[in-house]
Amino acid sequence: MEQEMRTLVLLKPDAVQRGLVGEIVYRFEKKGMKIAAMKMLRMTKGSAEEFYSVHEGKPFYNGLVDYITSGPIVGLCLEGENVISIVRTMMGKTNPAEAEKGTIRADYGIDIGKNTVHGSDSIENAEKELSIVFDEADFV
Ligand code: UDP
Ligand code: MG
Repeated sequence: MEQEMRTLVLLKPDAVQRGLVGEIVYRFEKKGMKIAAMKMLRMTKGSAEEFYSVHEGKPFYNGLVDYITSGPIVGLCLEGENVISIVRTMMGKTNPAEAEKGTIRADYGIDIGKNTVHGSDSIENAEKELSIVFDEADFV
């Protein structure tokens, strides 16, 4: 039997600004994933730097931190079998121009920065990212 796991999804500022929250959350719900926690927030610079610390020093790092802190975002903790890889497949490649047809980034992404969604890439990163975005009390 596959192991139940959880992941962190962020609906980035371009998703919230364009009114795509419902549409994107609908895709995950329809796929059968359980929403264990969900909230709208604005990331602080400190949280964003910790969140993206794996990218520190890369040419896009400062722009990435500026962008993710530029407006409200929505965080989701999703649970289900193989949820990490299924979410990554549903999101598509990082660059919307290269994302497979029918993926979230292909359908909604503007460019490699404003690519609409984030999804954790491993169990370890999911736990780290969930702890940055959510408190215990957010899990209902
Ligand atoms: N990113 C960027 N320029 C790049 C590579 C990445 O702006 O050349 C941004 C992009 O928004 C991406 C985020 O940095 O979602 C994190 O990069 P990663 O390689 O982890 O991509 P992801 O896991 O989000 O597909
Ligand atoms: Mg990543």
